[in-house]
Amino acid sequence: MRLLLVEDDDHVAAALSAVLARHGFKVVHARSGEEALQALLPADKEPFGVVLLDLGLPDQDGYEVCGKIRKRSAIPVIMVTARADVRSRIHGLNLGADDYVVKPYDTGELLARIHAVARRGTTGEDTGANPAAALLLGPVRIELPTRRVSVEDQEVQLTRKEFDLLALLAQRPGVVFRREQIISEVWRTSWEGTGRTLEVHVASLRSKLRLPALIETVRGVGYRLVPPSR
Ligand code: CA
Repeated sequence: MRLLLVEDDDHVAAALSAVLARHGFKVVHARSGEEALQALLPADKEPFGVVLLDLGLPDQDGYEVCGKIRKRSAIPVIMVTARADVRSRIHGLNLGADDYVVKPYDTGELLARIHAVARRGTTGEDTGANPAAALLLGPVRIELPTRRVSVEDQEVQLTRKEFDLLALLAQRPGVVFRREQIISEVWRTSWEGTGRTLEVHVASLRSKLRLPALIETVRGVGYRLVPPSR
């Protein structure tokens, strides 16, 4: 499969290209947004199966590049970035990215995600529905672009912050998020002055989703999401 790697850091690109080549990908490297868009112009070549798009590019913002790609093609796009916060992720998925990988990533995980989006691309599923943008945790379904949450197919109404909090924890089930980290990502503020806001939101989520064990309190540290067993 041909893969377009958009990355301005030659060291990162070389290391990643070598790994991808070992796994059978024919890698084309673009160092800027403009090079990437040029490479995607229709040519008499085998079309690309997937684009790996770094967001920090020298000539234009990676989000902008994603928007331009999406205007002309349904090719699967995986954003690769150091921006781990939930808003950046949602913004990327809203622009039509199929998946979003945060640096530093595990190469095995990246390969699995490439295969997953490429498979969807070739089975002709409607990329407009953007299935990668939904997180599934047992009976809980979280749709990032539309900000809809359902439990056993019943839609649950969440406030903006409740959704952001749930989406953040759900990105890495089982991983403990520190309170300070959650507050800075969801409330965009430092620790002071938020009082019991976080506890109140966690309690509200537990009750609205009717899954009190979904969000576990890790005493003195923070919270983590425990995926339901079904
Ligand atoms: Ca970069």
